[in-house]
Amino acid sequence: MKLKTISLLLGLAFASAGHAASCPLPDAQANVAIGHLTTTVPNLDADGAATGNCTINDLIAEEGVFPNQAAWLAHVNAALDGVSAGLLTDAQKDEIRSAAAAYDIKRYQRIKLVAINDFHGQLTQPGNALSTPVGGIDWLGGYVNALRAKNPNGTLFLSAGDMIGASPLVSALFHDEPTIEAMNMLGLDFDIVGNHEFDDGKSELLRMQNGGCHPTDANTCKGADVGRPTPFEGAKFKFISANVKNADTGTTLLPPYFIKLIGGTRIAIVGAVLEETPTIVSPTGVAGLNFQDEADAINALVKQVRNRGAETIVALIHQGGTQTGGVASIAQANACNGLTGPIADIVGRLDGNVDAVLTAHTHQWYNCKLPTLGGKLVPVTQADSTGRGITEVDLTIDRGTRNVVGVYHRNHLVSRNNALITPVASVKALTDAYAALAAPIANQVIGSVTADVCGNYKLSGTCAPAAVQANFADGIAPAGALIADAQLDYTRRVGFGEAVIAFMNPGGVRESFFYNQSGTEGNGNVTYGESFTVQPFGNSLVTITLTGEQIERVLEQQFAGCNGQTSKRILQASTGLRYEYSDSAPACAKIDPASITLNGVAIDPAASYRVTVNNFLADGGDAFTVLKEGTDRLGGAQDLDAVTRYLSLNPSYTPVDFSVAANKRAVKLP
Ligand SMILES: [Zn+2]
Repeated sequence: MKLKTISLLLGLAFASAGHAASCPLPDAQANVAIGHLTTTVPNLDADGAATGNCTINDLIAEEGVFPNQAAWLAHVNAALDGVSAGLLTDAQKDEIRSAAAAYDIKRYQRIKLVAINDFHGQLTQPGNALSTPVGGIDWLGGYVNALRAKNPNGTLFLSAGDMIGASPLVSALFHDEPTIEAMNMLGLDFDIVGNHEFDDGKSELLRMQNGGCHPTDANTCKGADVGRPTPFEGAKFKFISANVKNADTGTTLLPPYFIKLIGGTRIAIVGAVLEETPTIVSPTGVAGLNFQDEADAINALVKQVRNRGAETIVALIHQGGTQTGGVASIAQANACNGLTGPIADIVGRLDGNVDAVLTAHTHQWYNCKLPTLGGKLVPVTQADSTGRGITEVDLTIDRGTRNVVGVYHRNHLVSRNNALITPVASVKALTDAYAALAAPIANQVIGSVTADVCGNYKLSGTCAPAAVQANFADGIAPAGALIADAQLDYTRRVGFGEAVIAFMNPGGVRESFFYNQSGTEGNGNVTYGESFTVQPFGNSLVTITLTGEQIERVLEQQFAGCNGQTSKRILQASTGLRYEYSDSAPACAKIDPASITLNGVAIDPAASYRVTVNNFLADGGDAFTVLKEGTDRLGGAQDLDAVTRYLSLNPSYTPVDFSVAANKRAVKLP
């Protein structure tokens, strides 16, 4: 088995004059890395990532699959012999050979981490990333297998949270059981829970772990129809979190860490979710749970895991950051350009015994080295979201000292154009079987649009260009307006709430209503499946009574720094409401109360107004605590039902044009 792997690598090297051979996962780093020993020989084929060409790094990649030192050195020599004539000088070859000789394969061990983040049940293709068609569970599985093949006995496959929740219909309709089953089939080892794992509360999360059928919904336990066990088998992998505790007992809801024994080395996987989870999850989802500081919770375990023999500690944290200036290439996806966001502070407070940090939540690309407490630099990575990217981390461990002596880390695009990757047919078949079950619901046409109705959360397709988004830079997007108008229309009726205003949380508008879905449709039809993709949370409508003064405070709470709000979150307001705000004004004073009007009439602070929101907002989600003051609560329809009704009543719906001043609802003052 091992020898076969070697001959495969050698075959690659000899196949077509060295550097011109094709590699499934080409490596474009600047120097040749041998374990933790990086030679100063420049990599002469640094364009490998774009072309698929093997680089010298690829040809001599050492992944711990060699039976002895002689076999390893023979492999390096053969790889060097296969390099095209003239690419390396004899002196450079000698330098690589001496680095290889210094790499004692008995002393050093490699452990590979393969990580995804924010998968969100995206079993089907999520679209493009970095101008390339990407993802789909079968392709993601192909990349996992290709990476695992580089170190078959020393690889862990990890998820950094939000693996489920806010997922497409094919998974969400069945309470994300399809995603759990697919990840079981791909051999996922651990999921460090994110905020979305709490969307449906702790008992549903525990059902994801332990199996069994959903207690009330019929769309559960479809194993017999899709070739999986019935009842639902639950996750074969473990959910982990160190910083989520039961409020009553003080114990963690999930195991705080796991220690895996790999080739004689104990490696600890420790996890935490963002401390602010209760501010972004429906309060019913986190009832009875306390969320602690991420770094404190991880640091508190370091002594314990070391006492149990684990010197190698990997932290997965469902929190992240963002590079400055955007990411348009795989090189930028592997950069760390001016990273901002909460993760830098968290990493800076982590115990220096932590060796690598895999992050999530912001759906961004980055590949950083950041200092932990005491200044040790560790990799801090994230690879987009929804299976568009995947992160590879190689830890080189000195078996003598048990210390990590080298870390190599990079992000890969999960490209569907890579002929050297074999998509995993079994998970495609599983997805297709679930899609067939969901099809009668998903394909139902519920209305039509005359143009793209763009959202403002995850920008994709024809709604992605900055010039399009600039038309609604004030903060209310056409898709948000459609949803708010639909909610108002549903609940304005007598007996349904008698609402005069509706507010939709911006983070709940997950996509756009496209005129051409996937570019193939051409008739503007909107299906239930497309509408579900925009609003995947299954929230219900709630109509409450607020005074004009409370409405003013709700609007002020849209801005960071006002009554616990952590970021700017412009509520998607229904038609008729209008107000002006100034970003530069002090917190809690950004709106001139006199500018707030409803259908042209000033809002009266003392009068009462019926306001519709979803249950997430009504319970104070996204830090909109003022909405919890609402009285005369009336529960109502599912959010999707309101949009379905509205589109059926308004065929050939035309999106609100927010580039026209008269159409503006929130008006940002210059
Ligand atoms: Zn998240």
